[in-house]
Amino acid sequence: MKKNIVLLVIIIIVIVMGLFLGCDKSSEFDNNFITEDFFALGTIIQIKVFDVDTQKAKKAIDESIARVTEIENKMTINKDDSEVIEINSNAGENGVQVSYDTFYVIKKAGEYGRFSEGAFDLTIEPIVKLWGIGTKQARIPKDEEIISTLSLVNYKDVMLDETNNSVKLEKKGQAIDLGAIAKGYAGDEIKRILMDNGITTAFINLGGNVVTLGNKLDGTSWKIGIQNPVEKRGNHIAVIEVIDKTVVTSGNYERYFIEDGKRYHHIINPKTGYPAEEGVISSTIVADSSIDADALSTAVYVMGLDKGLDFIENMDKVEAAIITKDNKIYITSGLRENIKISNPQFTLVEQSLIKGE
Ligand code: FAD
Ligand code: MG
Repeated sequence: MKKNIVLLVIIIIVIVMGLFLGCDKSSEFDNNFITEDFFALGTIIQIKVFDVDTQKAKKAIDESIARVTEIENKMTINKDDSEVIEINSNAGENGVQVSYDTFYVIKKAGEYGRFSEGAFDLTIEPIVKLWGIGTKQARIPKDEEIISTLSLVNYKDVMLDETNNSVKLEKKGQAIDLGAIAKGYAGDEIKRILMDNGITTAFINLGGNVVTLGNKLDGTSWKIGIQNPVEKRGNHIAVIEVIDKTVVTSGNYERYFIEDGKRYHHIINPKTGYPAEEGVISSTIVADSSIDADALSTAVYVMGLDKGLDFIENMDKVEAAIITKDNKIYITSGLRENIKISNPQFTLVEQSLIKGE
């Protein structure tokens, strides 16, 4: 009996010591992260790396920042020069040889044009410029302007030559805008660089495009809030839990203007030339690759609820959450276990329920 009591006391001491050691370890590790915020791609980008080796983490972040700058310099249409500007200014005349990066993103964008039957269209630039949303020149164009400019929008007019990585736009006046996809590519590249540097845990936020590496240090999943479209940044309506995935949202609430009570936002329906109007406020995509999630979040926004949900439901390892104007969150079936509503004004509707399965 006495022996048993001694054994019990020893066991308790070992458990308590173990708990304390465990706590120490995790708090020590918790303090070993580095966060770097910087401005690029028209937004604030945050890279948060968790690693006891802060030198290694710093090096990985510095390389990531240099890479994002490189991507921006190649693909921007907002500076004096870039490879994309070069392609655009040679439209209807010559093909332009570009880097592997730019060729890859343009090729992907073309593929998403085809998959989405033109809901995603990288040649939307002339229409985007006409509206000027997000700039001081924002205005509602005349119908005639929209109709004549729409003749320039067609992803099938982007000619790719794989033999020398050159890109040619068929018609004069045509232009490419990679704003709906290049941020996703940059996110994938940051993750790759962190991994190449031996980092296993990180959280990256490119102005709402989230990329996660691994799980949280305590072994749990990352919790990503879906922005409440009608409230300030940081107010969430739902939380999505992910491990090692990317979560990308396209919404009508960040770049827009209001005229006569109507909201005109920056995601354009390439068929009409007007901001996409399908009752959707935001579309969120959860996937492995951020370039895919970025293109898909824009495509699904344009497609609207029914088509968009079906489109994603038929894809492997890609999920969607679509918020509609009537405060509903529609999700694809694979998201069921990973999403929680955090604002009771919104209700969750699952794809299989819509179909009556
Ligand atoms: P998304 O839905 O991912 O993309 C919407 C954007 O894609 C629109 O703004 C439009 O440009 C384009 N688009 C609209 N409809 C479609 C469609 N149907 N198919 C395909 N594309 C469509 N912002 C600045 O303010 N200043 C800058 O200097 C600047 N430079 C940038 C440089 C690069 C390389 C990139 C990638 C982005 C830059 N941005 C800049 C941001 C850019 O202008 C877009 O506003 C931003 O990428 C939109 O991202 P999103 O996630 O909000 O929306
Ligand atoms: Mg996008």
